[in-house]
Amino acid sequence: MSEIVSSEPTPFIPDDLTVPQFFFDLDHVLRATHPDGVPFFVDDTTGRAVDSREVRKRVDGLANGLSRKWDIKENEVVCLYSPNHVDYAVVFWALHRLGAISTNSNPAYTVDELAHQLTLTKATTIIVHSQCLKNATAACIDIGLPLERIVIIDQTMFNAPHITIEQLIQDGLTHNVNFVERKLGAGEGKTKIAFLCLSSGTTGPPKAVAIPHHSVIANTLQIRAHNYAVETQADIPQNRWRFRPGDVITGVLPFFHIFGLVFNIHVMLYSGMAIVIMPKFGWPNFLKSVRRHKITHLLVVPPMIVLLCKHPATKDYEAELKNIHFCFSGAAPLSSELANQLEKVLPNACLGQGYGMTETATAVSMTPALEKVGKAGSAGVAVPGVRFRIVKEDGSLAKLGERGELVVKSPSNALQYWENPRATAETFLEDGWVRTGDEVEFDAEGNIYVVDRLKELIKVRGFQVAPAELEGHLLSHPDVADVCVVPIPDEFSGELPLAYVVLHPHAAVRALSSTTEAEAIKTDLSKYVSDVKVQYKWLKGGVEFINAIPKNPSGKLLRRILREKAREDRGAA
Ligand code: AMP
Repeated sequence: MSEIVSSEPTPFIPDDLTVPQFFFDLDHVLRATHPDGVPFFVDDTTGRAVDSREVRKRVDGLANGLSRKWDIKENEVVCLYSPNHVDYAVVFWALHRLGAISTNSNPAYTVDELAHQLTLTKATTIIVHSQCLKNATAACIDIGLPLERIVIIDQTMFNAPHITIEQLIQDGLTHNVNFVERKLGAGEGKTKIAFLCLSSGTTGPPKAVAIPHHSVIANTLQIRAHNYAVETQADIPQNRWRFRPGDVITGVLPFFHIFGLVFNIHVMLYSGMAIVIMPKFGWPNFLKSVRRHKITHLLVVPPMIVLLCKHPATKDYEAELKNIHFCFSGAAPLSSELANQLEKVLPNACLGQGYGMTETATAVSMTPALEKVGKAGSAGVAVPGVRFRIVKEDGSLAKLGERGELVVKSPSNALQYWENPRATAETFLEDGWVRTGDEVEFDAEGNIYVVDRLKELIKVRGFQVAPAELEGHLLSHPDVADVCVVPIPDEFSGELPLAYVVLHPHAAVRALSSTTEAEAIKTDLSKYVSDVKVQYKWLKGGVEFINAIPKNPSGKLLRRILREKAREDRGAA
């Protein structure tokens, strides 16, 4: 076994279309996926439904409005800093019309984190939800981005101090077209960047992953091709498990993350879904939305499944949960124990799992289309067009049943890390292969099992935490001489960050003087992180003092030793 390839034929993937051209300019596609009466998006709170025609009108209006206001240029980067919103996709599709690039930011980011993303991507304009305006303003001031370049996405603010996208759309719709839509030449879709998404990859701080238009279209067609066998056979019971026009899916996964952006929006739209846009995951509000909108499909991350299985409120929604016919989990490992429990909660649903990463934009494996639950603990099989290699530590390719690092070639693979050739060279290999930093094995039927993570990355509730980012910050604290951040397992969050800290002598003397002093230093260090970082990056795994961080003779941090230590000390508990 040198390579694992999908047994299903690779679909034809157009490489001369932008994302909006593919998703809603092709009338024959829209007629099939969203016939009259099937909305694209439904606002969870207001119930407002928006169909493809209205979306297209708003996209074109906004593109014109943005062009008239600022003459947004080719490859100019615009940041979108908002929770999920009915106009979220309208914003980035309008940017694509202009040949510009969208970098979508976590709406929970602190001022520092947002400022970092704006600087890294050189964004010139920021489109903001009013509830994020305070942080956006502070970040713009910090980095010297003119406050006139703030646009408000929602209409909830009375007398908004900045222009709103509604004003830009209306301006664009009532004036002559001021821009020439960016069209692509043959093959250009593979290099023309649509999105910059943050990811830390296998090592180091977060970087901007450059995702071309072709990646989004490719992954959509790959996932559709994977499910096609089921959908075209109306008379088999499995047909009920997949996607049909008129089905309704949750839109709760954050759209700034690749799973929400590519899978929840683009793949699901192309599958004919109406997407119920939920700005925030709340419990049991999530179940109320399932009831209110007669939702049939769930797209989730494992912590949501923990709630579905364990929270007492779930039993009040038994009838609604019987109507769910598809539930798909991704972004983090789903244990077979939890999957077993979920089968009881969603008795009529197909439970799918997928695996992917920002750099593969997005799912490269998925539960086989004709299986109700897939193999226990597996993240499915390669989707069409994907090739997998498992590389052992000595560089040779693994045989069946052997473990090694997964390396992936998929038409959906991202292009590079934006303006970072060094990091690009480490992850994006020759000939379109991408290193995942995940340790996997396969069974004889091609099912993938993610057994461990070789890379530094910590995943908390599906969100990325880059140890290097936290270590860099902690090193700026006067008490810290050296530090290493590692994950510890957690039932709800998957993992939590724990910091092993070497104290400077003055602080070490204090810590040794009494347990109260030692605890005070730990609390102070935790607060040092929570003051400037988004909540899932907080040191909820704790702070431990250590005499020295293990390093190899050339000074490279031996993270694995501390990770094992943390697992032994805490993980087994
Ligand atoms: P991100 O780029 O944020 O999507 O993170 C990608 C990483 O999440 C992968 O490299 C894996 O470490 C992890 N991951 C994603 N899906 C799964 C899965 N189904 N099982 C285990 N780990 C996963």
